[in-house]
Order: sequence, then structure tokens, then C-alpha cells
Amino acid sequence: MRNPIEGNRVVIIGAGVGGLSAGILLSLLDYRVTIIEKNPLPGGLMRSYRRRGIECSVGVHYVGALGPAEPLGRLFSFLGLPVEDLFYRMGGHGVTDRYAFDDFSFDLPVGIDAYEDRLKAAFPDDLDAIVLLMKTLRRIAEGMRDPLFMMNGGDPFANMNDFRSMGECLAELQVSPGLRAVLAVPCQLIGVEFDDCPVILHNMVLAGYLFSAWRPKVSGAGLADAFAGRFTALGGTLLCGRQAAKIHLRDRRATGVQLDSGEILPADGVVAAVHPKVVLELLDKDALRPSMQERIATLAETEGVIVCQARVDAARHPEMDHNLYRLHSDRAGRILDGVFYQIRHGDESGGNLLSIITRSHYSDWQQWEHTRSGHRGRDYEAAKAAKGDDLLKRASEVFGDLGRVELLDIFTPLSLRDWMNCPEGSCYGVLRSSGQLLKVASLKNLPVEGLCLAGQNALAPGVLGCLLGSFNAARQMMGEKRFREAFCAFS
Ligand SMILES: Cc1cc2nc3c(=O)[nH]c(=O)nc-3n(C[C@H](O)[C@H](O)[C@H](O)COP(=O)(O)OP(=O)(O)OC[C@H]3O[C@@H](n4cnc5c(N)ncnc54)[C@H](O)[C@@H]3O)c2cc1C
Repeated sequence: MRNPIEGNRVVIIGAGVGGLSAGILLSLLDYRVTIIEKNPLPGGLMRSYRRRGIECSVGVHYVGALGPAEPLGRLFSFLGLPVEDLFYRMGGHGVTDRYAFDDFSFDLPVGIDAYEDRLKAAFPDDLDAIVLLMKTLRRIAEGMRDPLFMMNGGDPFANMNDFRSMGECLAELQVSPGLRAVLAVPCQLIGVEFDDCPVILHNMVLAGYLFSAWRPKVSGAGLADAFAGRFTALGGTLLCGRQAAKIHLRDRRATGVQLDSGEILPADGVVAAVHPKVVLELLDKDALRPSMQERIATLAETEGVIVCQARVDAARHPEMDHNLYRLHSDRAGRILDGVFYQIRHGDESGGNLLSIITRSHYSDWQQWEHTRSGHRGRDYEAAKAAKGDDLLKRASEVFGDLGRVELLDIFTPLSLRDWMNCPEGSCYGVLRSSGQLLKVASLKNLPVEGLCLAGQNALAPGVLGCLLGSFNAARQMMGEKRFREAFCAFS
């Protein structure tokens, strides 16, 4: 653990859920915080955008573990964010996610016991393996429920010793292809291949959604504004439309952030809630050892996605209380291809929003790599439209005739790259695979005093991962001892 910062001025780069939550937390802990955001509005991936009167979600479709005694619910409560105003519980009909494979489907229930029962009923030949898998899941879920989950030594994963991959684990258990395919689905939510996904991450994601699953009650813009409003109400300064151009250091200690306008914001600590490759660009060439620079520059990314947003007739396609994953797996139970569908309330004129998300390789869009959003030309628009048509056709195979469907928008890995400044349009930031875990772990403590990461690249992706990363950032700014005292006082 590094030394705490000496003063109380903190500059945070990036106003996604990571930067905003770090800003709220540090403001609550009496720091004077300024957040810089390059986009005109705060929220990053959390923020929705409007097309023809419908709010289209980008990066928060549902979250897990928001109940009052559950990890995300606890984190929201520390931040003073009103869960019930912002989210509603899914699963009223007993299902939060439907996994539809070619030859069977599996409904993800609410609750770990219900999940075990459903697995046993669906895969009676795998009973012994299920018992063992559930033991690990319960152990990890217990750890997450422990109030000290955000406190244990700088990393919530530190006390949980299962870092081997799910592939390795299942090779020993020899499970059926069907069970393997069902177990693999949560990995889609963090962009890691199941075989190479650390057991801890897989189980944390799964346990989170089994505790409870929640959908935003408000739009993504409403969520972003709630976070930003809480931050400014605590006295924080939010500067939107201002890009960080350089992180200033003196004697290997962060001293401020220079904006693209040339203005310098002096700081005693800097939290970079952006991708580590962006941090590398913001630092002087000699700020990090060559080995560290090389480590960051060569980090593998999670894949990008293509997202299609369409307006469908609400009478024909009512809001679905659960999400639907349409999946294709091979004979060994490896998922080859998955599409996520959500149908939500759209507008008051009888339209619902159908969101369709599937993986898209950055390399498929390489031809336009050197273009910027809004200026990519007709070929790009045509390529996007063709993808959109294909996704809508596939959707009609799932939902039946879509009727009068109106395409609202399609975004690609290039769109995400340009809007969020995430290299290769990576959806969930750096790849947290077992193969890359050691390399990624070194990001937790950047070797510059007063500089740390937050957001999905610090500890884990998703809203839960980002909020955990913010607690880790606050701990680094304050030092372990003061953080523990403050945390105990305010818990
Ligand atoms: C399609 C999709 C669906 C998802 N669905 C879910 C879901 O249902 N549930 C869930 O929990 N998670 C989901 N996620 C993941 C989740 O959205 C992210 O993990 C989370 O929003 C990341 O937040 P962040 O703050 O780390 O990064 P971001 O939201 O990317 O924020 C980074 C911010 O930094 C700004 N920035 C970058 N460079 C600079 C600079 N130099 N100067 C100033 N500002 C800068 C960017 O403009 C951006 O606003 C999804 C992600 C995607 C892509």
C-alpha cells in the first residue's frame, strides 16, 4: 500500500460511473474534488441517448446485488444514492434471464438455492459436479455479503483465493455440454471467454445477479444525472466538455492535470477513471519504467460490441420482465455466438425499445479505424445498416414478426472508442482473463504517488466493479488507516 496524499485537492479524469462514484465518495470524505469529462454531458457508458423520443441505453441494462444487505446496495447506500428511486427489481415472475439455446432453454431464477434446484432439475447427470460448483459459488457469495467486502486490504478479491480458470475447473469435473453452456453465460457480461475466466470473477458476476437483479427505473441519462447531481450537491466541481491532456508529476508524485485548453488544475491526488492506455498517453515518457509502459501498452482488451436500437410496437411486443440471451453452442458446450435482447418501455405513443447487443470484432471495422464518429462516410453507414438488418432479422426469428419496426440507431466498437476513449472500442476495458490476471493486477497500484485508477479498468467491469474500484481509489488517496476509520465512522 502506498502513502496517502498530503493535501485534499483531487482531480478525477472521466465522469463515467467510475469517476462519478469516486467523486462522490471522496467528497463525502472531505476532499475537494474536480471531475473533468471530455464529453458535453457526464455518465460515460452509463448515459443513454435519445432517438426519436426514445431513450436508448448504452451500458447499464441491468445490475445485480442492489438489495440493502447486498454489496452494490451497500455501496449505493454509502454514496447516498436512492436505489428505489433509480431501479426496480426484476424477476417478479421468477426469471431474470432466459438463456435460449438451439435445443433447450434455461431460466435464471432469483436466489442461489433456486438456481441450484434448477440446475439439478435440468442436468440430473451432473449432480456431483453441481454440488461442488455450488459450494464455491456459496463461499464467494458469502464473502461478497460480508460488510468488510470493500475493505479487505486494498482489493475485494484479495481474500478469495480462487484465481484458476473456469476451463481448468470444469475439466476436472467433466460436466455435460449443456451445463457447461449454461455456466458460461455470465462471462458474456464481463467479456471474458469462459474457459479463461477466473473462477472468482465468474462466480462474483453470477452471485451478484442471483442475489437480486435490477433494471433502471429512469433512463441512463437520468442515472448519470443522479450521480452527477449527488456529486455537485456535495460541493464537487464537474467540468464537462474539457479533455485531460496531461498528468503533471513532480518527483514521481502527481501534482495536477492539464486540460486541452492549456489550463492546469493543481492537485494533491489524481484519479484516472479512464483506460490505462489513456493514462499512459497522459504521462511523460519517463514517468513509468519501460517494463510497466510495455505491460500497459500490450494489455489485451475485451471485445467490442455492436448494438442495434429499434422501436417496436408496444401492443405487439410488450415490455419483457426478463432479459433474453439467444445462444449457439457447439457440441462441447462452448458458446460460439450470443445475442442479448431487452424490450423496455419506449415512449408514450405506443412504442417500446428493443435493444440488441452482440459481440463485434474491432478488426471488422478496421477499414474506418482512422475516421471519427459522424465522419466515416457512406460505406460505413451501409455496413452498419446491413448489420442492423441482419440483427433485426435474427430478432424476428426469436420474437416472431416484429411488425412495424423502426431502426433508431446502431453503434459499433468505433462509436464506443470515440465516445468513451476506450482503445479498440473495448466494451468492458482490459481483459480480466486468467492468462492476463497478473498483468492486470499491477494496475491496482500504479507506481506514481498520488495517482491511481478507478472505473472498470481498476478492479472489475460493470457498475459493481466500478464502485468497488472507487472504494479502492479512496483507500489509496487516504491511506489504509484513515480509510478504515472513515469507513467505520460512516458505516
Ligand atoms: C453495450 C454495453 C452494455 C453494458 N451493460 C451493462 C449492464 O447491463 N450492467 C452493468 O453493470 N454493466 C454493463 N456494462 C459495463 C458498464 O457500462 C461499464 O463497466 C461502466 O459503465 C464503465 O464505467 P467507467 O466509468 O469505467 O468508464 P466510462 O463509462 O467509459 O467512462 C469513462 C469516461 O472518461 C471520459 N474520458 C476518457 N478520456 C478522457 C480524457 N482524456 N479527459 C476527460 N475525460 C475523458 C469518457 O468520455 C467517459 O465519459 C455494459 C457495457 C457496454 C459497452
